[in-house]
Amino acid sequence: MNNKLYGNLIFELSKEGRRGYSLPKTNFKHSTSELPAALCRGKEAELPECDELTVVRHYTNLSHNNFGVNDGFYPLGSCTMKYNPIINEEIAAMKTFAGLHPLQHADTCQHALELYYVLQESLAELTGLSEFTLNPCAGAHGELTGLMVIRAYHMSRQDERRTKVLIPDSAHGTNPASAAVCGLDVVEVKSLSDGTVDVDDLKRLLTECGEEVAAMMMTNPNTLGIFEHAIPEITKLVHDCGGLMYYDGANLNPMLGACRPGDMGFDVCHINLHKTFSTPHGGGGPGSGPVGVREGLEQFLPTPRVVMRESEEEGVSFHVETGDYEKSLGSIGNFFGNFGVMLKAYTYILSLGRENVKMVGPLATLNATYIKESLKDVYELPIDGLCKHEFVFDGLKDKSTGVTTMDVAKRLLDYGYHAPTIYFPLLFHESLMIEPTENESKETLDDFIAVMRRIAEEAKTDPELVKTAPHNTPIGRVDDVLAAKHPIVTWRQLQAEANETI
Ligand SMILES: *Cc1c(COP(=O)(O)O)cnc(C)c1O
Repeated sequence: MNNKLYGNLIFELSKEGRRGYSLPKTNFKHSTSELPAALCRGKEAELPECDELTVVRHYTNLSHNNFGVNDGFYPLGSCTMKYNPIINEEIAAMKTFAGLHPLQHADTCQHALELYYVLQESLAELTGLSEFTLNPCAGAHGELTGLMVIRAYHMSRQDERRTKVLIPDSAHGTNPASAAVCGLDVVEVKSLSDGTVDVDDLKRLLTECGEEVAAMMMTNPNTLGIFEHAIPEITKLVHDCGGLMYYDGANLNPMLGACRPGDMGFDVCHINLHKTFSTPHGGGGPGSGPVGVREGLEQFLPTPRVVMRESEEEGVSFHVETGDYEKSLGSIGNFFGNFGVMLKAYTYILSLGRENVKMVGPLATLNATYIKESLKDVYELPIDGLCKHEFVFDGLKDKSTGVTTMDVAKRLLDYGYHAPTIYFPLLFHESLMIEPTENESKETLDDFIAVMRRIAEEAKTDPELVKTAPHNTPIGRVDDVLAAKHPIVTWRQLQAEANETI
């Protein structure tokens, strides 16, 4: 519902003197503030004055304008909103967990430390690596931590020339950004026309500067949703030059249960728990980007670490260790990372179990392939190979209509879908990147396919309708450049703009 009474700004609903509360008179003697006059307001704050129901209805109605995975299908590629089961929220909100303090003594939170420890072990098993730190708070934070581990490794061998990081041109933007923040130089590796890494270009680069290569960062399946078949060869080439292999496991779901980065020869890897392991993200919400390393690199991982000890008298107990690691990076953030996100990942792993976790990758692949095959006669598929969890269209097949990827994305909103990722990756002009995730039903996918086909049809019969979409949303098409460069975010600013126009 978007009726006028509740749909405007709260300031526009204000009526002078209206109150939404009534508080008893205070009994405290010193009820007036004793702040220095210079710190006090000269006049009363200009707050909206509304009755209670107007306020409640206004904000409730606003909240209905939001769209999340619980509202409808959300086929965003790359930074996908994956499966976010409700039980995760219930577990993470339990007082025994939510009320913990990071400084409390280990004796008083053995349950939480055990869970933290078991999650580290589970991730090591799922990725085929030796040891994990759960400290990093995001994927990019994990990348930085992983690269710092790699740098510390080279430094420990007095191999100080290694300052270059090889990154394929299809990589997620955080890869080169993290390398730069780590003080390393980014060297781009070209892709072939099928979207995979150009091994000849890699060979050329390694001949040119092999001794300066600290690492190569890779995503597999890559950002186009394509499996990189040359991984064993690439890994060997980089290792032979003395570099390490970094795996960007932000979207590990197509691999879960099918294959493991450790087995493919990767030395360091980060995972996004807030994608693959079922924590909702977006809007900068809490994340977790654990980093795993192969045997031999554990000593460089950051602190604090949660370790398990076993003794005859005390049995099994869990401990927090911060010192005694000469080669560790030390602290890379606040305490232990975002524990709530870890609880959700742990719950997810346990609810799947060892057997069902093997279904995640194949189902993610099946769903993406189903959509791709059902739409490729009307949408341009630039790389027609086997896809994994996601794939990219290059706009509509029929380019004569003038309808762009942006128009298709906006029209999808009218039909109640979140738009896919658009204009990324940059390899194509009209990229439309779709990832359905593993948990969507066939009916949901069929509905989406039908709507995508309908939009393709509309583009032919009534292109204006698509070009001017969305029509059913509270706000129509915005000028995104103006919205980004000149956002109006306060009531006062809005009034000033209005006065200027008058
Ligand atoms: C999301 C993502 C990242 C970065 O993760 P953040 O938590 O957003 O920092 C890195 N690589 C890939 C492939 C991603 O999809």
